[in-house]
Amino acid sequence: TVLRVAIMGLGGYGTRVGEAIQECQRVKLVGVISGTPAKIKNWQAKYNIPEKNCYNYENFDNIKDNPDIDAVYVITPNALHHDQVIRVAKAGKHVICEKPMALNAQEGKEMVDACKNANVKLLVGYRMHFEAKTLEVVNMRQKGDFGKIMFFQGLSGFKIGDPNQWRLNKALAGGGAMMDIGIYALNGARYMVGEEPSWLTAQETKTDMVKFKDGVDETIQFQLGFPSGAVASCLSTYNMNYLDRFYLNGEKGFAELQPSTGYGPIEGRTHLGKLTQPHTTHQAKQMDEMAGIIFDGKKPIVPVDGEEGLKDLKIIDAIYQACKTGEKLKLNS
Ligand code: NAD
Repeated sequence: TVLRVAIMGLGGYGTRVGEAIQECQRVKLVGVISGTPAKIKNWQAKYNIPEKNCYNYENFDNIKDNPDIDAVYVITPNALHHDQVIRVAKAGKHVICEKPMALNAQEGKEMVDACKNANVKLLVGYRMHFEAKTLEVVNMRQKGDFGKIMFFQGLSGFKIGDPNQWRLNKALAGGGAMMDIGIYALNGARYMVGEEPSWLTAQETKTDMVKFKDGVDETIQFQLGFPSGAVASCLSTYNMNYLDRFYLNGEKGFAELQPSTGYGPIEGRTHLGKLTQPHTTHQAKQMDEMAGIIFDGKKPIVPVDGEEGLKDLKIIDAIYQACKTGEKLKLNS
């Protein structure tokens, strides 16, 4: 069965996903939801999308009456995900939602519940969970190649441009770098170490008060402790370029990925040599795998469901709290 998808939000990343879907084996781009009629026209022409599969932000609830769309991929600014995902669920369609799934754990929980009640799947656009070199490392860790895991370092950042973009607007982004790029280091810490953290500490620093307004974090460092005793040290920033590196260390070996979460190719090595799994378009692989999850109940090696998204949101809530209070916080997963 082919997963017939409509993309909501035809911006930078929506455009990338639309192109990637053209490489998919079992996913087809069949519809769009956008507030800009001119973009809809372009997409219709480029991808041969019928008029009846085009919606705007006011009328997309009508997707419930459209038997030719199986799922909607929400690729809008972070603050919109919560309401849009719940509306798609109520329309009876599966939802794929970009990261961060929502602005906080409360919202995330409501989305998970709404999808459960509507009996539709909720999946989060964690493309790295399907990336071959990343999975090569996860697989080696599971086999014990690194021995007992002791340490993870995740460095995730880029220097952000235009000060007027939604990513620097607290109301639309929900925060700053941590919501956008720091989430990769956090999520990576969890899938690289292979455990849920039991405590954290976090510190925020800001060098540009004008660009990074109240509630929009420029740089956050956070540390995680895991039940096994492993620790992680992570950096999230909107103020450094070329910051994209994961390092995992165990008693018997190490893995290093750099770049570790960019669109690729991901590169890396371990104490046993270079990582060799081939590069493929992340978003195409992700979408084909998601078709398998939705239609065949396939279980990915690293989960991408709403519960997984919610785990990150709970920890992000705690990171912001720890930045404010300076406290070491206990986490219950
Ligand atoms: P973007 O600004 O390029 O696109 C956002 C789109 O949403 C635009 O087309 C815009 O018109 C539309 N939109 C609808 N309502 C809006 C409103 N009220 N205000 C502003 N824009 C509105 O952003 P993007 O880079 O495509 O990011 C969209 C989402 O995708 C974000 O949640 C982001 O975190 C996520 N993303 C994920 C990845 C990834 O690798 N998984 C990469 C980039 C972005």
